[in-house]
Amino acid sequence: MPQLTFETLKEQVGAGTVDTVLVCLVDMQGRLMGKRFHAYHFIESAWQETHCCNYLLATDLEMATPDGYASTSWQTGYGDYVMKPDLTTLRPIPWLDGTVMVLCDVLDHHTHEDVPHSPRAVLKRQIARLAERGLTAKMATELEFFLFEGSFDAIRKSGYRDLQPISGYNEDYHILQTTKEESVMRPLRNHLFAAGVPVENTKGEAETGQEELNIRYAEAMACADHHTIAKHATKEIAWQQGHSATFLPKWHRDRVGSAAHVHQSLWRGEDSAFYQAGAELGMSDLMRSYCAGLIKYAGESTYFLAPYINSYKRFAPGTFAPTKSIWSVDNRTAGFRLCGAGTKAVRMECRIGGSDLNPYLALAAQLAAGIKGLEDGLALEPPTTGDIYQSVDAPEIPNTLRAAAEALRGSAMLREAMGDNVVDHYVRAATWEQEEFDKVVTDYEIARGFERA
Ligand code: ADP
Repeated sequence: MPQLTFETLKEQVGAGTVDTVLVCLVDMQGRLMGKRFHAYHFIESAWQETHCCNYLLATDLEMATPDGYASTSWQTGYGDYVMKPDLTTLRPIPWLDGTVMVLCDVLDHHTHEDVPHSPRAVLKRQIARLAERGLTAKMATELEFFLFEGSFDAIRKSGYRDLQPISGYNEDYHILQTTKEESVMRPLRNHLFAAGVPVENTKGEAETGQEELNIRYAEAMACADHHTIAKHATKEIAWQQGHSATFLPKWHRDRVGSAAHVHQSLWRGEDSAFYQAGAELGMSDLMRSYCAGLIKYAGESTYFLAPYINSYKRFAPGTFAPTKSIWSVDNRTAGFRLCGAGTKAVRMECRIGGSDLNPYLALAAQLAAGIKGLEDGLALEPPTTGDIYQSVDAPEIPNTLRAAAEALRGSAMLREAMGDNVVDHYVRAATWEQEEFDKVVTDYEIARGFERA
């Protein structure tokens, strides 16, 4: 059910309570991009479709125009895509006056087919593959981020120096400290809830200034939509309150990083296909094969969980961020943690993803790996116990963007599941990030070598 029907929107526009419609696509970086429509024009015509430059799905955080993308380029003249509003995503945006939002699918201008590398299309394809097997996925992403004193603009003007987290100490589960942050976090919870994003809770996380936002699990596409809107809302509401929120996974070498853990379970209708009463840990054979796929293909999927240079700075022993592709029962040092063992809520949590992941791509890569596990009837090794950071035999997660990009390039599994064109598109996104970084002379190099090299 839509959060806001088109009919109700028309009434609201007629009554003058809504005047603006945000018409948005989700870009490769997981950001909302689009246009602010006058509501009259939206209900009159733009609800059917609007257009955007096709470089929006071939750019980077800086809005550059990298070469090397087959889908678009200066040579092809950077034409248009169709933005097709998905009216089931229509929702109020209560933190902005008189405003509602709709998410769009991105279609080819001529054929009106889904653009295959568009994040929503990438996820749609895996959801369809599950549907062919009579299955749906229920997923949840946990959003971790840091809150800082001062607005984005003030921080940018100061050159990102002397960043001041909103709290002075580790605030994990801390009620006193989080009370001091309610000017941001309370409107965040309440506005999201009113926007149809089923917020469960927020809590202080295990570092100075770090927060976590938990959203109730939902079908995969809704989960990714919720994540995207929640991340966007966090930045906007923090900005409204004179603060800033960052989803950069690692903002300081001595501080713990931010994750986006992914909880997942498969369902047949109303029943969990992961749960089997009486089975060891309550895990069905289907769950075992799915999880074996997640683990086997973790390296090939890592790019979609950690898409930037900075993402890899988070994978450090002793920080609750995993370094090994292995599973465990409720053990936070492993890449995959079994939650809800022996109950109907039995599910697997992937702990590899950073707070910078694009949820559509991350969920799609998880589903693709799991589906391959099902197809091949993979067997699941027994769980590991103890401090898995010390587990020498366990396979390592790629620990640089370069390694993750090469694992993606060579992934027959993802090529089969997503298509060569999609994999090649994101390999180019990864190599571009690496090339750009490789050109930069960092403060670290200057301080280390200026005198002493
Ligand atoms: P923890 O704090 O131990 O990570 P929580 O109980 O807070 O676990 O749950 C984490 C997330 O898992 C929540 O977003 C919740 O909605 C989600 N979740 C609960 N049950 C399932 C399930 N069967 N499948 C997928 N996600 C689930």
